[in-house]
Amino acid sequence: MKSNNLVYFLAVFILIAFSWWFYSLFELSKSNYKSDKSLLENHYEDLRKDFYHQAFQNVFKGEAGRDFVRWGVPLNISEPKVKEYYAKTYPKEPIYLTNSDNLDSVLRFSNMETNFSNLKNKFGRIERMWIAEGITFFVVLILGIYYVIQSNRKVIATERQQRNFLLSVTHEFKTPIASIKLYLQTIQKRVLTKEQIDKMITNSLKDIERLNELSENVLVATKIESSGYQYIFDNLNLSELIEEEVDKFKHAKQGQYNIESQIAPNIQVNGDRFTLLLVVSNLIENACKYSEPQSTVKIALFNDGATKLSVADQGIGISDDDKEAVFDKFFRVGNENTRRTKGTGLGLYIVKEVSKKHNAKVRIADNKPKGSIFEIEFS
Ligand code: ADP
Repeated sequence: MKSNNLVYFLAVFILIAFSWWFYSLFELSKSNYKSDKSLLENHYEDLRKDFYHQAFQNVFKGEAGRDFVRWGVPLNISEPKVKEYYAKTYPKEPIYLTNSDNLDSVLRFSNMETNFSNLKNKFGRIERMWIAEGITFFVVLILGIYYVIQSNRKVIATERQQRNFLLSVTHEFKTPIASIKLYLQTIQKRVLTKEQIDKMITNSLKDIERLNELSENVLVATKIESSGYQYIFDNLNLSELIEEEVDKFKHAKQGQYNIESQIAPNIQVNGDRFTLLLVVSNLIENACKYSEPQSTVKIALFNDGATKLSVADQGIGISDDDKEAVFDKFFRVGNENTRRTKGTGLGLYIVKEVSKKHNAKVRIADNKPKGSIFEIEFS
């Protein structure tokens, strides 16, 4: 059975067991109330029977006694006598007599109503206690189940993403290494013209650059995660830093993408040069990676009260459902078999973590007519 199903099964089982336990307690309390009530009723029934018994024995006959007839037998009931008898025999049950002509309604027990209402209150209190405890327990149980299900989901998602990561990272490392190897073997074995050699070296350098970026991403992400990365904050000219990075991309993607930039001059931030460069390169790389060749990528740096960097593309866009998740470590939209582009799912994780360290907010908006806009707002 899948671990997720097992958790759901256990959750349902615990909830049913809990409801059953709660129901049984309630029923038990009700039946306890009923039996205590009938004990009390029997007790008063006995006291009343004793009244008739003593009356027939003429124990209550006396001065100023009232006359009654029961089953054809004349009975005389004197209030002081009754009181005297009951005070002696049942000292805890004070009585009084009514003026009724009906013998059944003459004797009254002063504490009877209080005793019944005390009994009812006692069980009412017990029931309220069960309900309060039950609700508390139920809430704790639901929170616990929710927490377990959420953690389980996270574990499963992380496992899946890690598997994806391993698959893609292996591929990402292997492809450029294989192509560099092939270029070098060709140069070694064949007699080539200077132009051919230059072209192969340029291509190999591109592959090496790709490998370098990849290993930097993996290294920085690992260090950031284990708090092992030492940020060195300096007063930086963000305009220059971004300009340089954008120029690199314009050069590297020449003929493949139309990279446009609008960088306001001399915008300063207090930041860590290395990781900020990584953020910019990841955003531009993604903008190209998830767009059709020849499409336009616009990079803008400006200050409209706050310093903002935006990278806008005309690519496949990101659905609202994925806008938060894309920043999770190893997260990639789609699955490894159907995905066309290669990557590790670490780029945007780095963007998010580095921005957080710089007190900057990252937002994703939809571009028009299509594509995404990533915006980083420095505070
Ligand atoms: P990677 O690009 O290596 O897969 P990232 O962390 O950079 O990892 O991005 C995570 C996911 O977010 C990507 O796999 C992709 O599905 C989505 N994504 C990132 N940038 C864009 C973009 N500009 N347009 C569309 N989807 C994007």
